[in-house]
Amino acid sequence: VSEVVQLLQEMIAIPSISPGYRESFESPYGESEIGEFVAGWLRNHRIDGQRQDVAPGRFNVIGRIGPDIAARTIVLCSHLDTVDVSSMTIPPYDPQVRDGRVWGRGACDDKGPLAAMMIALKRLSHEGSPGAGVVLAAACGEEIGMLGSAAAVDAVQNVEAVVVGEPTLFDVVYAHKGVVRWRITTEGKSAHAASPKLGINAIYRMGRIIQAIEEYQSVLADERRHPALGPATINVGVAAGGSQINVVPESCHIDVDRRCIPAETPKQATEDLRSRLESDGRIDFDFKIEPLSEHAAVECDPENPFLKQVLECAQSLEPNASFQTAPYATDATNLQRWNAPTPVVGPGDMADAHTAAESISVEQLELGVELYCRIVKRFIDGA
Ligand SMILES: [Zn+2]
Repeated sequence: VSEVVQLLQEMIAIPSISPGYRESFESPYGESEIGEFVAGWLRNHRIDGQRQDVAPGRFNVIGRIGPDIAARTIVLCSHLDTVDVSSMTIPPYDPQVRDGRVWGRGACDDKGPLAAMMIALKRLSHEGSPGAGVVLAAACGEEIGMLGSAAAVDAVQNVEAVVVGEPTLFDVVYAHKGVVRWRITTEGKSAHAASPKLGINAIYRMGRIIQAIEEYQSVLADERRHPALGPATINVGVAAGGSQINVVPESCHIDVDRRCIPAETPKQATEDLRSRLESDGRIDFDFKIEPLSEHAAVECDPENPFLKQVLECAQSLEPNASFQTAPYATDATNLQRWNAPTPVVGPGDMADAHTAAESISVEQLELGVELYCRIVKRFIDGA
């Protein structure tokens, strides 16, 4: 098997489920073991590699070739963590190669693109020092919270171009929505269920908020629409309240997911919701909105020269590749803080991501190495 297939197999064999908001990161949760593997791999190939601590037990690995920190720099970013494996119907950590595909958790999301970026970096390093900084950012925590890419922005300077590696089948994703999540809480007053008038029912209060949010959904569909990405959306995903069937509930919370278009900032989305609920005549009581996460939408200009180069590189390997938007969010939401273009492109099919039998095409994976090499070389030549 080829070098990139072998590397991907080694990485699939190391569990790295995103720990999310867990407190312990013991395998299979957490990215430290896969992070150590990537750092060791860089060392073995004499590529400068740094561990960037992000949170207790969580770190990114930043590899670099080329001149010192002052040079114009391109960043290749993929993530170390995967989603959970409990629903899988194939062995998650025993990577098999059959039917022209590599099978296992993370095969396409996101260890395939990461392995392709690593082999590309190694190949480029063998061609002598490039005329620009080439950085590999292997980020932790993409699946839940995106804390790795948020920190990575502080670890690299003079960034002029970014490539986010996700399985896009070589399409170049130039825009995606942002996502803001909140927990909303209502308080009541407990009482015996036989005497409800003595209490205040926190679930009834929340019911009015839920109704207002349901109505807000159609307002957003009418008023907040992006020509390519479609409308902003809002959804109540979790509702929980009360303690016992015979008690008037004293507290209730909902978790709400709001998808933003590029014209909206997460802060605006929060303020819009707050003022809408506060001015609603049915909601004549206090409630609390706590942000759980805030990620802005991404929109790069397809006319940007770097984006055009990336598309040309992709089309040189996959003639059907085109500019696309994505329904999902990526680390680009944080990496755009470099004020550099952040296209998302990579081998594999997002339709295989997070699935019970995740896999990636060997052909795509191998072409992925070539894709990232070509993108970097075009960037360096464009100086
Ligand atoms: Zn991913």
